Amino acid sequence: MDYELLAELLFPNVTKTPEEIEAMYPPRNLPEGAKVTRFAPSPTGFVHFGGLFPSTVGERLAHQSGGVFYLRIEDTDAKREVDGAAEALINTLAEYGLHFDEGAALDENGKICDKGAYGPYKQSERGFIYHVYAKKLVKEGKAYPCFTTEEELEALHDTDKKAEIKAREWTPELEAEQKAAMLKQREFTIEEVKEHLAAGHPFVLRMLADGDPDRKIKFTDLIKGTIEIPENDKDEVLLKSDGIPTYHFAHAVDDHLMGTTHVIRGEEWLPSLSRHIMLFRFLGFRLPKYMHISQIMRLDENGNKKKLSKRDMGANLSDYAKKGYSAEAVNEYVMTLLNSNYEEWHTANPEKPLTDFPFSIRKMSGSGCLFDFEKLNDVSKNILSKKTADEVYDAALAWAKENDADLADHLAADPAYAKKILAIGRGGKKPRKDLTTWADVKPYIRQFYDDWFAPIDVIDEKFDRDDIKKALTAFTDTYDETDDSAVWFDKIKAICPPLGYCPEMKLYKQDPTAYKGHVGDVSMFLRVAVTGMLNSPDLYEVIHILGKERTLNRVASFLKSL
Ligand code: GLU
Repeated sequence: MDYELLAELLFPNVTKTPEEIEAMYPPRNLPEGAKVTRFAPSPTGFVHFGGLFPSTVGERLAHQSGGVFYLRIEDTDAKREVDGAAEALINTLAEYGLHFDEGAALDENGKICDKGAYGPYKQSERGFIYHVYAKKLVKEGKAYPCFTTEEELEALHDTDKKAEIKAREWTPELEAEQKAAMLKQREFTIEEVKEHLAAGHPFVLRMLADGDPDRKIKFTDLIKGTIEIPENDKDEVLLKSDGIPTYHFAHAVDDHLMGTTHVIRGEEWLPSLSRHIMLFRFLGFRLPKYMHISQIMRLDENGNKKKLSKRDMGANLSDYAKKGYSAEAVNEYVMTLLNSNYEEWHTANPEKPLTDFPFSIRKMSGSGCLFDFEKLNDVSKNILSKKTADEVYDAALAWAKENDADLADHLAADPAYAKKILAIGRGGKKPRKDLTTWADVKPYIRQFYDDWFAPIDVIDEKFDRDDIKKALTAFTDTYDETDDSAVWFDKIKAICPPLGYCPEMKLYKQDPTAYKGHVGDVSMFLRVAVTGMLNSPDLYEVIHILGKERTLNRVASFLKSL
């Protein structure tokens, strides 16, 4: 076969040579050991939470080593592409603080542009490059055109036929039959190709696999360890009939030219790895290092591990912001899942930012990590508890503006008042952990606003209503706004003995039967009257924020309601 001629017939318009392309992508000038990594999402309009795993790993490895982290948009599947999805994706990634040194970016008009010298970073704009390498492979007899007939194409689109093929049992005979069919595709003459082309028949370009699946290749994945995979004998499609590359081909060409040292991607790509290894060899490219990240799992209702799929709660990255999780919390949560020693480090270095943590490939788990909202909530609570009232105010207001106009109005109406509420219990060694998300700010502050205030909890029936009345009347009679918290509490204690309640918890515990209740119960009466709830932040502070008039008014209306 005259491969030169075949290449010319298939790619008459390709005039550039691989050498010319290579010259456009010179080696990067980076320090020894610097890693070049990329995040390479497909813009389908949905950013999966799982995408934070390879991107975080890529970002950390590149930036910890003085390397480069870039963003490549893999938009070769027009069927799955959604308008504006790439732009939305870039914005979402920015919210998570993923800093790309180069790659697809947004210009001042919010349109996609290239930042960096190794682009274009959008695969749909790299068509001419793929074709140069496709032509090279054909010239070297490593790839060939496969003309599928109209009928065959039809059969592929005929769902009954597809189902029929699918339903067939996988037997050695069927395997042999398919293999023979595949091998048959390789047999053609230049004349036949010319005829097909003259008739305008479309073709796909396939690689001419030279592997024997009975032989195994030893391969070391930096996460999975050394694995054995069968050699590839599948003539994988490199260019689809519209000339657009498949993921496999684009991966090899782009990661080579862009100088990726570490390919970090989901483990769903492991089964194609032997094809990629072959393709890099065919193209004469040096194989990058690979890290295949385990899939994120969740527990189903029966306690079985399942893949976190698109429809599952927590799968859509945009939902976190909507629910009021800070990106900081989500990032830290992801880090706890990625590196088993992160939490220990964080406990020892509570003030240091996440980026100071020495991220290590060796500490990554080879098996799937389990998604767990409780753990995320825990991480988030801790983070929010360390924020100042000003920080909480700003973030909650920004969130509310997008998601809860009512809350935004209340916060904005009197910032100083809102900040006073948010400041309760902050700043000390053991800050309160009332907030898990920004959405929790509303239920947390609502009882401080008269138009929102509503009784929520009730006092247990076991407490004599007369005692409650007497206690609250005594409070009203003795309340002095200028009392400090010690004097204030002494006054609450003083309410107890005449009612048969114990003013000291210690004494009460020694003989609970001797009393109707204790000082904590009396405080609780007041708490329910003033805040409408059994649980609230420090009551002394609450009352001072509300002010004397509103406090006593609330007590008075509560008394009326009894
Ligand atoms: N576009 C591929 C995906 O979204 C990228 C895989 C890779 O990182 O190589 O799965």
